Amino acid sequence: MSEAIDPAGAGEDLTELARSLGGAVLAPTDEGFDAARRCFNALVDRRPAMIVRCLDADDVARAFDFARARALEVAVRGGGHNPAGHCVSEGGLVIDLSLMRGVEVNGDARTACSDGGATWLDFDAATQRFGLVTPGGVVGSTGVAGLTLGGGIGHLTAQYGLTCDNLVGAELVTPGGTVVRASSDENRELLWGLRGGGGNFGVATRLEFQLHPLRRVLGGLLIYTEAGIRDALRRFRDLAAHAPRDLSCQAVLTLDESLAPTLIVAPCYTGPDADPEGLRALRTAKGLAHDAVGAHSFLAQQHVFSPGYGVYRKYWKGHFVRELPDELIDELLERVVALGRPPGEVLIESLHGAPKDIEPASAALGYRDAAFNISVMASWLDAALDEQSIEWARATAAALEPWSISGGYMNYMQADEPIERVRAAFGDEAFERLQALKRRYDPDNVLHRNQNIPPR
Ligand SMILES: Cc1cc2nc3c(=O)[nH]c(=O)nc-3n(C[C@H](O)[C@H](O)[C@H](O)COP(=O)(O)OP(=O)(O)OC[C@H]3O[C@@H](n4cnc5c(N)ncnc54)[C@H](O)[C@@H]3O)c2cc1C
Repeated sequence: MSEAIDPAGAGEDLTELARSLGGAVLAPTDEGFDAARRCFNALVDRRPAMIVRCLDADDVARAFDFARARALEVAVRGGGHNPAGHCVSEGGLVIDLSLMRGVEVNGDARTACSDGGATWLDFDAATQRFGLVTPGGVVGSTGVAGLTLGGGIGHLTAQYGLTCDNLVGAELVTPGGTVVRASSDENRELLWGLRGGGGNFGVATRLEFQLHPLRRVLGGLLIYTEAGIRDALRRFRDLAAHAPRDLSCQAVLTLDESLAPTLIVAPCYTGPDADPEGLRALRTAKGLAHDAVGAHSFLAQQHVFSPGYGVYRKYWKGHFVRELPDELIDELLERVVALGRPPGEVLIESLHGAPKDIEPASAALGYRDAAFNISVMASWLDAALDEQSIEWARATAAALEPWSISGGYMNYMQADEPIERVRAAFGDEAFERLQALKRRYDPDNVLHRNQNIPPR
């Protein structure tokens, strides 16, 4: 840490803070500060006063103490992927968990404990050594904690449910500096709230998951071009309606360089069949231009999507929908053409299978009736395109409204979503229970840089 600068009017205190930590403090003139403040979303460009790189729960508690004493806004950083850029605040203190990446696996009990800053790459690499998995995110650099606390949809959703459904325990440091544990035996209500309620109640330093045996999958990408897209999307929709338990599926509608619509489908089959029926329907659809589906390791499946970090400006908006009728498919195709340039996409995630099995009272998350999560994802490089790109995402998301069953998916929300949308993602009753938890664990709303659940 540089002692020359005094970002919060507290140079000496900063030095003392750094000495009290197992981890480190980065100030704005320190090497690595710029990389450490970057978010996945290049639209977010904030300069915090300091970044506290914690090593354990004690470090997190000290960071909270320091922020409280100096009235600094707190942001919490895991993998840095939240599209709203909640992991960094202007002039505030960032609790950065990126040095806390350990994952301990108990192969006999089929459980794994992940430190608060582990990514899915860390997690999957550790659990796959035992031939075990939990259903996580589809991009390895995304934070395990951030994704889990907001829900978690990925390549194994139909098989094993949402990521938060597989969370069985957690250790949190509250903004008051207290260490709290949640499990089925201890603070059950908090565990319920952590299954979807986001980073509202404390900094998770440990998360415990149940695991499932899995080594190989039949997966990869199928790419369809213009003429066959409508038919392929209908087949994707019909496949999800039959709810195959061993086949998860996501679809991405985008434009290629020639401005022709393109559909990318990412299936992940875990059953015993070499040529499963549901997948065959997709692989025989007319318009299939590229079939890169094959048997490979689960780790290979986790690499089928690998976007660059911090490159594009992003604006995401979406809805959980009850159905995907032909009319909506046609509307989405028109909206993608209206984008007029790549990149940018509409992501359609199927929620069939295991997410519907869960006892609704076990998790705060409230969109179990939805057939799909549809997210409009604008991406662009040039700041001059900000307004136009954001407007495209908003208008396209508005076209989904007639089919929407709730607010949007917490994990994909921008910072400008009104509280009604956050509330609708849970429903009134669950939202009020979450508010009661917030009053108990963070009554002053220190943790408000998130999809916020205000204490009252
Ligand atoms: C490229 C990309 C791929 C994605 N893929 C998926 C996917 O497959 N499935 C899916 O469901 N979502 C996915 N997401 C969304 C992602 O789950 C959320 O944006 C999530 O918030 C990211 O967590 P993070 O730790 O990486 O982000 P950060 O920006 O570091 O953190 C986001 C917020 O999470 C909270 N948080 C993070 N860590 C902790 C912690 N240890 N304790 C308490 N709070 C914490 C904080 O409120 C923080 O502000 C993806 C996002 C991107 C950009």
